[in-house]
Amino acid sequence: MAKRRVLLKLSGESLAGARKEGIDKSCLDSYAAAIKESVLLGNEIAIVIGGGNIFRGMAGAASGFDRVTGDSMGMLATVINSLALTASLQAIGQDALLLTAHPMSPIGSHYSAPVAKQALREGKVVLIAGGTGNPFFTTDTASVLRAIEIGADLMLKGTRVDGIYTADPEKDPSAKRFERITYDEVYARELKIMDLTAMTLARDNGLRIRVFNMDQEGNLVRLMKGEPLGTLVENE
Ligand code: UDP
Repeated sequence: MAKRRVLLKLSGESLAGARKEGIDKSCLDSYAAAIKESVLLGNEIAIVIGGGNIFRGMAGAASGFDRVTGDSMGMLATVINSLALTASLQAIGQDALLLTAHPMSPIGSHYSAPVAKQALREGKVVLIAGGTGNPFFTTDTASVLRAIEIGADLMLKGTRVDGIYTADPEKDPSAKRFERITYDEVYARELKIMDLTAMTLARDNGLRIRVFNMDQEGNLVRLMKGEPLGTLVENE
């Protein structure tokens, strides 16, 4: 039976743990353990990580950098995060390969979809860093793009909440969680899951995305075992 190929998107902030900034080593180690277990369960795992715990282009623009420079700094932040998780995976004996959108040897190899797919088939976790390689995009867009390029069966978007709600559950206690929702309904209800560039790319290419709570220990492994946690977004 063919293995399930999954692209996991983690925000930069999720690596910061309670500190909200930088990289929390215990957080990193617990993600690495869960990812290794997911591979042992028979999944192929590619990972895209954001950079918001270190730098965001918009913040750079606000403090006087031009946007292109700020975004380059943000893309480099994603490489720092991905390098850290690659090292944590390797430290526990999980083979991992770091690929970067910009040529950055010897830090990582230059990304191409065939190289990523070959490494996944070999059982390596593949970290795809540097966003799309272009300013004015987000790592959500990068993860949708990479998921489509490598032919992922599913994208998992780890967030701080356990799925998509009718309203912000932190503000509205009557908000209800969707188990499944279509892209059309996400647009119609103006739900903010990802930026519209990422959403449209996912919808137009029929990528299925499951939004789940990454902060709750054990969730990633439960998902890999087939539990329907969070909210699934798909076309009709
Ligand atoms: N970025 C970019 N192009 C991309 C992806 C990311 O310029 O294709 C920059 C952008 O400045 C962004 C930063 O990298 O603010 C960090 O990415 P993101 O904000 O998506 O990280 P997250 O919120 O997931 O931590």
